[in-house]
Amino acid sequence: MKIILTIAGSDPSGGAGIQADIKAITSTGSYAAAVITAITCQNSRGVSHISPLDPSLVQNQITSVLEDLDVSHIKIGMTATSAIIRTIGTSLVDFSGEIILDPVLQSSSGTSLVDDEPSCLHPLLARATVLTPNSHELQTLTGLPCTTIQECLNAGQSLFASYTQLKAICLKGGHLDEGNQTISDILLTHEDGSIKETTIHHPRYQTRNSHGTGCTFASALSSFHLHCGDYSGAFTQTVEYMDCLVRQGQQDQLGSGTGPLVHYRQNR
Ligand code: PLP
Repeated sequence: MKIILTIAGSDPSGGAGIQADIKAITSTGSYAAAVITAITCQNSRGVSHISPLDPSLVQNQITSVLEDLDVSHIKIGMTATSAIIRTIGTSLVDFSGEIILDPVLQSSSGTSLVDDEPSCLHPLLARATVLTPNSHELQTLTGLPCTTIQECLNAGQSLFASYTQLKAICLKGGHLDEGNQTISDILLTHEDGSIKETTIHHPRYQTRNSHGTGCTFASALSSFHLHCGDYSGAFTQTVEYMDCLVRQGQQDQLGSGTGPLVHYRQNR
């Protein structure tokens, strides 16, 4: 059995966070274990409350999972506080599998999902093997401009230089060139000192249903990587999976705001 552990916040409306992760991991054929960092109150209209859990409770959950289940991939999303971030960092010292970090700092509705400066993510950046930023997150993490593909490539290179254990960066291109009808997602892999770039172009759909797309992307990428074993194949499958979910969800009427993705449909 293929096992992925997701560490993230709870979204009771089921659109983002741990709920989206479990659906994405399950619908792509892997088993999901889930550690909660914070309880949020949110729906398609936005986040109204965040209660981070005590770091010791986060650590206890991680230990409970890792001492019993044969986890090969850990996906990390909303971390809530710098204290929780430090705790996750120490809890994973002996973990030698893939760590996929979605460096989420803000919800798309603008609420801060971490209580500190972006640099507080350092203990996790120092362990991650894969990052899945969008261009805004890449810019925040590196302090470099990320408004063009070339600028994003430069910023990616600086992350590989700072974090030597980092093997891949999947840049979600939705926020680049937002007037363009095509989105370019970019995979950068770092192997033997050289950086390889793969770009996939796909259509930009007119849809209000995009809540939780970041969480879903990173979870699906973890799951596809677990199955195929390489970043390039996992990236291609993830972009196709996301394209399918967003396209099929264009007419869905779930909630009155930014609606969620539907991860599994019969007769798809
Ligand atoms: N809420 C939780 C609990 C999350 O973990 C995340 C992303 O990681 C979000 C919200 C952000 O999702 P969105 O930007 O789609 O609102």
